[in-house]
Amino acid sequence: MKRTDKLVRPNVLKLVPYSCARDEYEGSDGIFLDANESPYGPLNRYPDPRQHLLREAISRHRGIPVRNIFLGNGSDEIIDLCFRIFCNPGKERAMVFTPTYGMYGVAASVNDIEVIRIPLDETFNIDLQAARPWLQDETLKLIFICSPNNPTGNCMDQETIETIIREFNGIVVIDEAYGDFSGKPSFAGRTGEFDNLIVMQTFSKAMGLAAARVGMAFGGTDLLKYFFAMKPPYNISTINQEAALRRLKETGELTRRVQTIITERNRLASRLAALPVVEKVWPSDSNFLLVRVKDADYIYNTLAERKIIVRNRSREIPGCIRITTGTPEENEKLLSELEKIEL
Ligand SMILES: *Cc1c(COP(=O)(O)O)cnc(C)c1O
Repeated sequence: MKRTDKLVRPNVLKLVPYSCARDEYEGSDGIFLDANESPYGPLNRYPDPRQHLLREAISRHRGIPVRNIFLGNGSDEIIDLCFRIFCNPGKERAMVFTPTYGMYGVAASVNDIEVIRIPLDETFNIDLQAARPWLQDETLKLIFICSPNNPTGNCMDQETIETIIREFNGIVVIDEAYGDFSGKPSFAGRTGEFDNLIVMQTFSKAMGLAAARVGMAFGGTDLLKYFFAMKPPYNISTINQEAALRRLKETGELTRRVQTIITERNRLASRLAALPVVEKVWPSDSNFLLVRVKDADYIYNTLAERKIIVRNRSREIPGCIRITTGTPEENEKLLSELEKIEL
């Protein structure tokens, strides 16, 4: 038994996955009378359960072998699968570094898993000293590291991440949803180095396909085999697989868009910093800005009245709102509304 198998819940270890018609026969032409589908199209056939074409395209795009790629119905499905594969409900725990993405905590609650919340330090980096005592705790099974982090926007220190992966015997999940905006090295190609590492990316942000719900997990086959066994067989619709495939063919346009968003983010950051209502704009490795303002609730509500919707994060980080980079026109509109606010 591998070290990673011992981290898996007993019911998952002995799970016999559902074998669907499209798993039994994988060819694409023939007379298909195996899945009780309608013979009349379009969209009458079940999707490819293992998303071969899309995973091959991602493999070429990211330079990662197909066998090390798993796709979920958004990263949200992958987060939920992590809990269901590795954490025994009511007994085991997960760790997050707060403030961070809310879905980790929600998925933990759904699965009856307690969350250890370690506050980020004053530079919004991981407080290794605070986390360390937990790394040897047998009940801690999962650690989520969001880098670049939502809502603080920064990447976590790479050496700290590596230390955690090395010292922890459970599973480390690095969420790189905003990685394409950071210019910093990804961990996606390093899952061969660490058998307990899963790296998540998504089509929802830089790829501009949030509507299609396609999340990616990169990991060793010893871990990914459990994700394939646990997922609903047809978790990504044919329409969504095709949308993602088409998007990957537009790589030139994708790169240009990401570059435009980064340029706009930087311009927005310096313009915001000059406004009287703004107290602080943090540097960002993502497509959004964390901004401390004079009165977050008032500014959030005033902008909302003008139909400009930002995210009020002042419950998590006092005085702060989170602003996504829009088009140049949208950003100008935001700036001109903010200029009008007097406090
Ligand atoms: C937006 C976001 C995601 C993306 O989730 P999907 O389900 O793939 O749309 C994942 N992680 C973080 C931290 C995010 O902010």
